[in-house]
Formats: sequence, structure tokens, C-alpha cells
Amino acid sequence: MSERYDIVTVGSGHNGLVAAAYLAAAGKKTLVLERNAWFGGGVVTRELTVPGFRHDQHSMAHIFIQANPLLKNDDLGLRAKFGLEYVFPDVPMMSVFEDGATLKLYRDRERTCAEIAKFSAADAEAYRRLADKAAGYLPMILASVYAPPAPLGPSYAMMDQSREGRELWRYMQMSSHDLLRDWFEHDRVRMHFARVAGENLVSPDEKATGLGVFVFVGFLEAYGIGVPVGGSGRLTDALIACIRSHGGEVLANSDVVRVRVANGRATGVETRDGHVYEAKDAVIGAFHPHDLAGLIGGLPQEVVEAAEATHISEIGCITLHAALNEPLKFKAGDDVSAAMIELLPTSYDTIRKSFDRLRYGELSEYPLVGLGSLTMFDPSRAPPGKATMHAWDYVPYTRADGRSWDDAKASYVERMLTHMGRFIDNLDSNNIIAWHSDSPVDMERTSSSFRRGDLHGIAATTYQYGAHRPTPDLGQNTVPQCERLYLVGPFQHPGGGVFGAGRAVAMQLCGELGIDFDKIGGRAR
Ligand SMILES: Cc1cc2nc3c(=O)[nH]c(=O)nc-3n(C[C@H](O)[C@H](O)[C@H](O)COP(=O)(O)OP(=O)(O)OC[C@H]3O[C@@H](n4cnc5c(N)ncnc54)[C@H](O)[C@@H]3O)c2cc1C
Repeated sequence: MSERYDIVTVGSGHNGLVAAAYLAAAGKKTLVLERNAWFGGGVVTRELTVPGFRHDQHSMAHIFIQANPLLKNDDLGLRAKFGLEYVFPDVPMMSVFEDGATLKLYRDRERTCAEIAKFSAADAEAYRRLADKAAGYLPMILASVYAPPAPLGPSYAMMDQSREGRELWRYMQMSSHDLLRDWFEHDRVRMHFARVAGENLVSPDEKATGLGVFVFVGFLEAYGIGVPVGGSGRLTDALIACIRSHGGEVLANSDVVRVRVANGRATGVETRDGHVYEAKDAVIGAFHPHDLAGLIGGLPQEVVEAAEATHISEIGCITLHAALNEPLKFKAGDDVSAAMIELLPTSYDTIRKSFDRLRYGELSEYPLVGLGSLTMFDPSRAPPGKATMHAWDYVPYTRADGRSWDDAKASYVERMLTHMGRFIDNLDSNNIIAWHSDSPVDMERTSSSFRRGDLHGIAATTYQYGAHRPTPDLGQNTVPQCERLYLVGPFQHPGGGVFGAGRAVAMQLCGELGIDFDKIGGRAR
């Protein structure tokens, strides 16, 4: 059986959907094929525990997509026509320390400074300067994240031409720890920013991660954290509604096992159940670099070898979702309210050592637990008066004790709950109605992007960043010697996270097809 489309997109992750939605809106006959029985990849909300409780299985904080013209200008009408709605908590992120102290990062800079001044007046002043610098860098960062990456050589040469550029280069090469030690004197303040930078699955001591601090501060101040009303998956729902409204199709249970190539050009795909879907114009695929050779025959050997040599983070993620009878009661008091809440020890070195242990494939002694209880801001996610919790921790993919994660997951969840009990009074069997956990192994089962529990597909390190993400061959979202095949995924520029990066692929493809990208959606931008 063979069906014919203009564009076939493999994978219904938000990046594939974003690319497909622009092309469908441009009038292309578009098909999206998803292997899972559900849509959305890392942007999905499901009743994982009991009916009535909606859990964001993976991403919950929509940060980086807020500045994407897809949402900022509502290019495709996701907000105006397709029901996407966000709330933005005043406090995107806060640290709760084990002794009951707290530190909030507000969108309002002066309120953040007042929080930091509880620990150090000098650090409050330093934050003012750091946030100023972050706001200065933001336009440049925004210009680079929603478009195909600029080649590295000219970018570095440009940086080297000015004092500001050279300073930026220096920050880029530093670890977050190097940077935080230079900027702040108080351990708690350093730890607060080190932990949020660690959400990129990197230790604060990892070199070449320093810029992350500026990126987080710049984005969080300017845009905050968007909490989608009804759950993260509402973004997926809106994109699918948009594609269908333009005559496109989105199919589940369709596992693509082969990209068809003729005369050096992608011409369609084959699914495991024997369907062939022809693509007149292009195939877009959420293909992890380690899977490329298995899906596409005849690629140059050096391209395949470089793709297979890409590194995955040693830090895997484990999540715990709970349906709760009542909202969480923090020992630190009722004032604990933020989209993202980090549970931290009293000494900064404790978390640095936790990250170190992971580097050696061991469980961290002090769990690195963060959580969100988004019913605080969006009660529609649970029955009246009830609540949800989404907690995460970092673990090695392969356990040093030889146990499989399927076997050891429940006991690890107990460990997480016991640890969280130091911060929260009511995390007991009276309050927890039911829980669901995804180990790093479960995570890669839900999407081939989340290989070994790496939320970013491949590690967020400089040698696999920008135009070299995942490799220099594949960094422009295209595949050598296979025309009209485009790549989307967290392993492509600008990396893991809800960025809506599929927009850059739609731009590239429109250029190739002679479509005026700026007119898509009926608006000249
Ligand atoms: C636990 C967790 C928490 C996270 N939290 C956040 C957060 O709070 N904020 C944030 O910004 N980011 C977060 N992230 C990262 C973010 O979710 C991802 O980077 C993002 O969703 C990736 O989107 P994507 O479309 O590129 O890929 P994916 O979402 O991985 O989508 C790829 C899709 O393609 C499908 N697919 C792949 N191959 C095939 C094939 N051959 N045939 C058919 N279908 C195929 C997969 O099944 C999948 O559905 C989190 C990730 C995880 C795992």
C-alpha cells in the first residue's frame, strides 16, 4: 500500500509538529507518523496515575518557546484559534534549603535582589549586574536559537573582534561553578544558580557550561516559565489541531523503519506494518544520530561514524509523578510557590559531589531532587482540592549494583520520597493516592530521543553544540548525500528543551521549495 503526500514527518514530538504545522499552513499536503499510541514525545500530558489527574510525563516548564515567533507572534494561531493558553507564575524558580531557608528567583529583578540580600548584600548587587548582562546577551541568543545555526568559524571570529565578544567567549568556556564563584560570595546563592544550570544534565563543574547561567537568568526574567493550562500536552494538541485544520494528517501507531531514498534524495518512508508513504517534497525525521544508519541506507561511512560517536550524558533522569489528596505542605512554610522548586542541602559542595558521583556511574549520596506541583497555578489538572506532583532526580543509566531499573525503580522511588520528607510534611500514604515513575530506561522507551535517560538526546557539551550539534555533518539539520531529508530533535541545534526548533527546519524547507516563509499563516512578519 502506498499513499502520496508532499511532506512526511516522522515523530509527533513538538519539533516535528511545529515543522509540519508551518508546512501544512503553507498549503503542503502533510502527514505526521508517530510510533507511540499517543502524540507529543516529550510534550505530553497523560493520566498516568488515576483518572482525573493530568501529569506532564516529561517537560512541564515551557521556557524557551515563549520567545519563539511561533508563540510570540502567534504565527499559526495556536493561541488565538487552537486553544493554547499559558499562565506565568511570578516566581519561575525557587530553592528550598533543608534548614527551611528559601531563595526565590522572581521575574522582577528587584524582588530577586531582595531575596538574595537575605544571604548577602554584595551578591544582590552582583546579581543586578549579572542580570543586566544576561538581558544584554538575550537578543543575540534569541537571534540564534530559532534559526538554523550559524557556522562556528565565522561566529568565533566575530566574537574575537570586540571586548564584549571576547568576554562572552570566556564565559562560554568556563564551568558554571567557575562563573558563580567569580560573581557570588555566598554558598547558597552559588548553589541556587548552579542547580538550575544543572537542569541541562551537567555538573556545575563541567567546563564550557558557564553561559547557561546567563541564558537561564535572561530567559526567566524576560519570559518566565509558561505553564500551559491543562498541561504541557496542550501545546501538542494545539499543533495537531492546526495541522488538521489545514488538511494535514497525524497518525499514531506508525513506526517508521526505513527512509526511502532514490537518486540521493529522500522520497518517502516505510512503516513496520508495511505501509509506504511517499513524500514528493521532503521527509522530516526525529532521528537520533545513533539510529541514522539503521534508517537510511547508503550514507557515507564517515558521516555514520561521526553520528554514532556522539556522546550521551552520564546523567540520566528519573521522574516521579504523584496524584495527591491535598496540596504539598512544605516545612519551609506556605510561601513555597514556584513553577520549579529545587530541594537543596545547606552546603553547595554537597551538590557538586552528587554530580561527581554520577560521573562515576554511582548513585548520588544526596539526591538532586527538583519538583513542580503545577496544580498550584492550574487547578484544572486535578479534581477540586486535589493536586499533582512531578519530581525528578538524576541517576546513572546503568546501575553500579547490576540491578535493572525495572527491578530497582520502586525502591528508588521510596528513597526519593524519604529524602523529600525532609522538606515536605505530607508526602505519605495518606496523601499519595497513586504514583508513576519513569526510570532512564522507561524514558528511552517513550521516545528514542531520550536515549539513556538523557533529556537532550545527546550531551549538552560544546563539542556537540551549535552548528556541530550533533555533528558538523548534520548540524544544518540536513544529511549529506540525502537531499530533502531534514532532522529535528533535541540532539539538533539548539538542543534539548521546548524551543519549537522545528520552525528553523520549516524555514529551511520553505527556502528550498520557494515558499515565502514570512507569509505563512496569513501574516507578513
Ligand atoms: C523527564 C523530562 C523532563 C523534561 N522537562 C523539560 C522541561 O520542563 N522544559 C523543557 O523545556 N524541556 C524539558 N524536557 C526536554 C524536552 O521535553 C525535549 O527536549 C523535547 O520535548 C524534545 O522534543 P522533540 O520534538 O525534539 O523530540 P521528542 O519529543 O522526543 O519527539 C520525538 C518523537 O518522534 C517519535 N519517533 C522517533 N522515531 C520514530 C520513528 N522511527 N517512527 C515513528 N515515530 C518516531 C518518538 O516516539 C517521539 O514521539 C524534558 C524531557 C524529559 C524526558
